[in-house]
Amino acid sequence: MHAVETLVVGAGQAGLAVSRCLTGQGADHVVVERGRIAERWRSSRWESLRLLTPNWMSRLPAWSYPGPDPDGYMTAPELVSYLEDYAGSFTAPVHENTTVELVEAADGGLRVVTDQRTWLARNVVVATGTENRAWVPPAASGIDPEIHQLTAGRYRGPDQVPDGGVLVVGASASGVQIADELRRAGRPVVISVGRHARLPRRYLGRDILWWMDRAGVLGQSIDQVPDARSARRAPSLQLSGRGYPVGLDALAAGGVRLAGRLVAADGRRLGFADDLPATIGGAQARMERLLHTIDGYLAHRGGEAAVPADPPAPFTAPAGPVELDLRRAGISTVIWATGYQPAYPWLRVPVLDRHGQIAHSRGVTSVPGLYVLGLKFLHRRNSTFVDGVASDARFVAAHVMMRRMTARALAAVGPDVRDLSA
Ligand SMILES: Cc1cc2nc3c(=O)[nH]c(=O)nc-3n(C[C@H](O)[C@H](O)[C@H](O)COP(=O)(O)OP(=O)(O)OC[C@H]3O[C@@H](n4cnc5c(N)ncnc54)[C@H](O)[C@@H]3O)c2cc1C
Repeated sequence: MHAVETLVVGAGQAGLAVSRCLTGQGADHVVVERGRIAERWRSSRWESLRLLTPNWMSRLPAWSYPGPDPDGYMTAPELVSYLEDYAGSFTAPVHENTTVELVEAADGGLRVVTDQRTWLARNVVVATGTENRAWVPPAASGIDPEIHQLTAGRYRGPDQVPDGGVLVVGASASGVQIADELRRAGRPVVISVGRHARLPRRYLGRDILWWMDRAGVLGQSIDQVPDARSARRAPSLQLSGRGYPVGLDALAAGGVRLAGRLVAADGRRLGFADDLPATIGGAQARMERLLHTIDGYLAHRGGEAAVPADPPAPFTAPAGPVELDLRRAGISTVIWATGYQPAYPWLRVPVLDRHGQIAHSRGVTSVPGLYVLGLKFLHRRNSTFVDGVASDARFVAAHVMMRRMTARALAAVGPDVRDLSA
């Protein structure tokens, strides 16, 4: 068994960020990655994807975008290079092609079994992201098996989708971008719309994310929101970095048919909730509240925007169909853009709640030495963004260092004092 002070599982932005912080402290650690650095951006993204966050929003501990286009949007391969360069900048101790198969309590720490070797670690940081299991609604199982089905994580581009029309289920960032790409490729597209976050790409002459960053919206912490559970389930932003608007108004204007939430499937007959106008109205109201927050920030700061306020025109949609016959509609493929869930089949320590999710406070779990990073709203709204993981990584690394100092201090004193501290 190889001993290491800290083992980080996953070499995405979260694993690399905490590795950078630990390196800065001279802390002994390894990062174990089942694929390669930034694997998700290599193998779980469609080909035309550009990040929806501008390049300047890629700030990581001791690293930021150095290029000539801070307001542009990287492709997935560009982000892979960015993260590889980051890892190279501090010679991150990454073990690629190494899958963690088991983490369990062992004498004096945590035993980590991988398909390469076994480690005994004092600390384990779980940084395996939120995409371990695609979530599809139960109705999926009722769809005729002859209809081609795939999840957004497996979608690569229109050429890979069988001829014919496509039903995209889900209207958050992935769903609207995939629907837009397919309709531009000439496919008939229906999109089933659930709760979503409508946003203009630009507001008052700047990228909306610039305003959300400045106004403190992205940095808001979980204890500042009234309902933590609902905040953690908030949909991703209906934005794209490809230069096209991808809101439902733009999709509808381009010929995409809108339907409410998919609730039932019987072979080729699908049933939708009669909730489209209400869902769109809710998204409109949330967007107006956000723009109001930005206006308030600007007024409070006493500054002037480059251009006058230019909120997008309200979008109202007629009620969508409550039934759809896939054959008659010419639909041969269903794409599930309905989100993901973290999954930890290899984690055998008592930290999972009844939903199978890691219970934690700011990434610190109740099992000494076990940490998690990169979860939705882990501590701040931007905890899952490249740009947001830094403060969480610093906090977790500081906790690891505190544990080390406490252990050393206790080792230095006699057993009597150690007993008192127990
Ligand atoms: C389609 C899409 C677009 C997005 N666009 C943006 C964007 O524009 N801007 C932005 O800031 N964020 C974006 N995000 C959100 C976020 O930045 C990404 O999800 C990012 O990949 C999360 O980084 P992470 O390090 O937390 O996890 P991941 O990147 O998922 O990294 C986890 C790593 O753990 C590894 N792993 C998993 N299980 C094991 C195991 N058992 N053993 C060893 N290794 C394991 C995986 O291979 C993976 O490399 C997007 C997300 C999606 C899905």
